[in-house]
Amino acid sequence: MLKPTPLAKPSLSARDLAVVWHPCTQMRDHEFVPMLAIERAEGAWLHAEDGSRYLDAVSSWWTNVFGHRHPRIVAGLKDQLDKLDHIMLAGMTHEPAVALAEELVRVAPPGLSRVFYADNGSSAVEAALKMSFHYWRNEGRPERTRFVSLSGGYHGETIGALSVTDVELYRSTYAPLLLEPILAPSPDAYLGEVGESAEECAIRALESMRALLQRHSRSVAAVIIEPLVQCATGMRMHAASYVAGLRALCDEFDVHLIADEIAVGFGRTGTLFACEQASVTPDFMCLSKGLTGGTLPLSAVLASERVHAAFYADYSEGKAFLHSHSYTGNALACRAALETLGIFRDEPVLERNRMLASHLRKRLASLVDHPNVADVRQTGLIAAVELVRDKPTRTAFAATERRGLRVYLHGLGRGVILRPLGNVVYFMPPYCVTVEDIDLMVEVAIDGIERAVA
Ligand code: PMP
Repeated sequence: MLKPTPLAKPSLSARDLAVVWHPCTQMRDHEFVPMLAIERAEGAWLHAEDGSRYLDAVSSWWTNVFGHRHPRIVAGLKDQLDKLDHIMLAGMTHEPAVALAEELVRVAPPGLSRVFYADNGSSAVEAALKMSFHYWRNEGRPERTRFVSLSGGYHGETIGALSVTDVELYRSTYAPLLLEPILAPSPDAYLGEVGESAEECAIRALESMRALLQRHSRSVAAVIIEPLVQCATGMRMHAASYVAGLRALCDEFDVHLIADEIAVGFGRTGTLFACEQASVTPDFMCLSKGLTGGTLPLSAVLASERVHAAFYADYSEGKAFLHSHSYTGNALACRAALETLGIFRDEPVLERNRMLASHLRKRLASLVDHPNVADVRQTGLIAAVELVRDKPTRTAFAATERRGLRVYLHGLGRGVILRPLGNVVYFMPPYCVTVEDIDLMVEVAIDGIERAVA
């Protein structure tokens, strides 16, 4: 008797596309963009179901600082799983939450002494915005309800965080739902006038900020920024002097400074936190992404003692910060974060990053004179190449041309994950990459750029 031929099992990608709705994606693109089915990951490399492998040059949305499955984090997580998985963080606590808070306070800019946990970057931004508003209310200044944010800034995509985000792609559709921020010009050095230095751009942006604060200081609760690099808008960079100058203005006008270090924190810019390069302590510092080494969702808002004290009162006064997420301070995530900070403490991570950053800079130098490259910029282990249609006028390619997507598709064919932001090809590799990995990722990007601009 003839046996029926077994039907081929559908691939993971095919099963995925039948049921999973992906983030930041026009799903129809997957009619021609392959869906990578990743089975396992090791260091800087992702291994797919079909046997191919990919260099993760963007650290899995900038989370994966040490490479995938760092042995110390894996061991810590296994140990933690045998002790405690998760408990609510109201009315009870656990060793990883306390030890992590102690360690964060130790390594953070001086004066940040309180740690409020959440479970993702946007939630940390929401918490910081609410805390700032609530602080002023508790201090008898309820009219301080507004936030100043920078043009080109990105702080997440929940309603509050999106309100202070100024990236057209994410914001415009939802604009009718959002709070209206006071938008200040960005110190973005790329947008400077011809011949203007990053420091001069910073001075100009600070003058505008001063004028805005003069006009609105009575109604402003806080200014929120991404210190040194506005990542999602295309890795746009500014001088540390802007951050220092902004701190001084916030002090002068008595408004809070919220530093969103969700993307730039944890060694990415050359120091553990970007604010260090301006010797600045913000009133609130938001952390996530690299906090757990890219293993589990966790975020934290660090605040000063003065802020915490404004909420410490008799219950009847209604001053408590009643903001909660079920997975706040998850024990596994806190343990992963503790191991992450342990790696920074015990290994010469920042030193090695400086060596890698200098190699990356050298390798990208050949792109500076490319006729379709308007700018090659770098801060620590973030580097970006701005593609344009016309170099002298810096005329951009239209977004609908999707030149960046062409670079992405080329990268996939060569086994490198480059996921450009519009017309900006960027590199944000995990810190475990070798110089050979950097050579490969730059070579593939240059090749991809040549094809994409042709
Ligand atoms: N702030 C910044 C600076 C970010 O880059 C991001 C994420 N890209 C967020 C906030 C939001 O974090 P999450 O995606 O975890 O909500």
